[in-house]
Amino acid sequence: MVSTGQAPAAQLRVLVSEEALRQAVARLAAAIDRDYAGKQPVLVGVLKGSFIFLADLVRRLSVPVEVDFVRVASYGTATRTSGQVRLVSPLKTDVRGRDVVIVEDVIDSALTVRYLLPYLRRRRPASLRVCAMFLKETGTPPPVPVDYLGMTIPNVFVVGYGLDYAEQYRQLPDLRVLE
Ligand code: 5GP
Ligand code: MG
Repeated sequence: MVSTGQAPAAQLRVLVSEEALRQAVARLAAAIDRDYAGKQPVLVGVLKGSFIFLADLVRRLSVPVEVDFVRVASYGTATRTSGQVRLVSPLKTDVRGRDVVIVEDVIDSALTVRYLLPYLRRRRPASLRVCAMFLKETGTPPPVPVDYLGMTIPNVFVVGYGLDYAEQYRQLPDLRVLE
């Protein structure tokens, strides 16, 4: 076994239960189903963190969707971003004239979404919206419109449900606090 020197998952406090996550995803899927009835949106997942959220979301949707991914990285330490976003893996799908929904795991400073909105807008989609599972309560209103929001969470560093600390804890089925 590889020892990472990190806290065992069992010691981390659960912030959002599996059941609460499930209910939030169901609500989001219902809203997207309603808004995109008769359409076929392209969901653009932001790797890596959104992979579990996106997988849960698409399985709850009734509207037909296409799925693609972008991968971004922000320079900085493991729990603080530096304010610089860079595209590691670009979008492959031609989204011109398509209805695009960015699927993000958590919005903190909103730098990632603020970087991706103009990046995708340049590709001339018919519409462009943002779906995020978590929005951190940072005390200031988010500088981007979040069209579909799972829930707000306190301004703490969270792991699980796809979110990592140094690539650990993504597999946890609930959202936990790394203290
Ligand atoms: P933003 O650009 O909005 O500051 O942050 C967006 C990205 O930073 C997320 O997609 C996620 O990868 C990462 N991030 C922000 N807050 C957290 C957190 O509490 N835990 C983890 N694991 N990642 C976070
Ligand atoms: Mg990350």
